Amino acid sequence: MALGTRSELFARARRLIPGGVNSPVRAWRAVGGDDPFFVARGEGAHLVDVDGRRYVDWVMSWGALVFGHADPETVDAITEAARDGTSFGAPTEREVELAEEIADAFPSIELARLVSSGTEAAMSAIRVARGFTRRDRIIKFEGGYHGHSDALLASAGSGLATLGIPASAGVTTGAAQDTIVCPYNDVDAVAAAVERHGEGLAAIIVEPVAGNTGVVPPREGFLEALRALCDVSGALLIFDEVITGFRVARGGAQERYGVDADLTILGKIVGGGLPLAAFGGRGDAMERLAPGGDVYQAGTLSGNPLATAAGLSVLRRLREPSVYDELEARAAKLERGLRPFGGVQRVGAMLTLFRPGYDALFRGLVERGVYVAPSQYEAMFVSLAHGDEEIERTVEAVHDALADDRGRG
Ligand SMILES: *Cc1c(COP(=O)(O)O)cnc(C)c1O
Repeated sequence: MALGTRSELFARARRLIPGGVNSPVRAWRAVGGDDPFFVARGEGAHLVDVDGRRYVDWVMSWGALVFGHADPETVDAITEAARDGTSFGAPTEREVELAEEIADAFPSIELARLVSSGTEAAMSAIRVARGFTRRDRIIKFEGGYHGHSDALLASAGSGLATLGIPASAGVTTGAAQDTIVCPYNDVDAVAAAVERHGEGLAAIIVEPVAGNTGVVPPREGFLEALRALCDVSGALLIFDEVITGFRVARGGAQERYGVDADLTILGKIVGGGLPLAAFGGRGDAMERLAPGGDVYQAGTLSGNPLATAAGLSVLRRLREPSVYDELEARAAKLERGLRPFGGVQRVGAMLTLFRPGYDALFRGLVERGVYVAPSQYEAMFVSLAHGDEEIERTVEAVHDALADDRGRG
């Protein structure tokens, strides 16, 4: 097979693709800006790059792959589906089956719709909340990521609840002005914002376990307080469970913490590694979607036959409770191994090692055949493909990389 080397490919990529990548974090700029590797293939817990180097992979397509790369059952399901056609833009049986699987795992989901990305799901859930409540404002949290739609790219200028200012060029002030940003885990700030904006508040959207600022668990009572503030104000509570859904428990953070959302956003695991995401929740809100209601939302590739086949193949195996015991045990083992090297925060099969000098550690790990997220603010994702050997190799590599870095320093 004729493959270019990493640097050759990156040079060609940069000529045609902005920054050489199709999603910014892939460029490794937050960790010192070496040329990123180009993946040739994946195999269980491992990646192989175009230069033939092998890595233990803790990114796992940002958490999408709970059974590892090229999982045979998933690949078979996709292959079989492909033989019958790759897209119809008309209803298929597997869409119904996937919706049933989702509703079974998440009791708060009475109606669900399938889309193609988490961004699309979050944007659509916000639209449903606004259409249903006939209100405009939303509360989100600092560091909370809900995809790159305009209204959700707002950030706060201060620690206190403030009206959103755009965090990206190209987002109009108008698109961000109805977004209120509060500090995560700060009940008083949310209560003050609800007090001030409650009558115009359509929704509070939150990652129930923050996963895009490094893993930060919800403080005790935080999710319950959000639930109560929504109940008194009439705003909808939206849980963005794109990462946590089917990961921290089959029923996501809602199951793990016992707090129900009005609307839930799913992605990553739900598509089994193919482009599929979903949003769903209360029937009275979701039935406002077209064609029955007046909230428009649509998609040519929504409920794509290959993506639903992959999703079903994965979700059906996640019905087995021992899967989550196993994920918990493996993640706990990794946590114990990493604890001597920094602060570790973990919820189920997602964790972050917080430490100064993360960029040097990242480079040292890549040199030693271990791939962690190219940013301190992302999680490590444990899958069922990660065994004792991968965990031990990783802990050893962290030890050696840090020792080597101290030697150099
Ligand atoms: C990844 C992610 C999204 C966006 O999903 P895409 O499929 O990348 O658009 C939204 N919310 C959270 C919490 C995520 O981690």
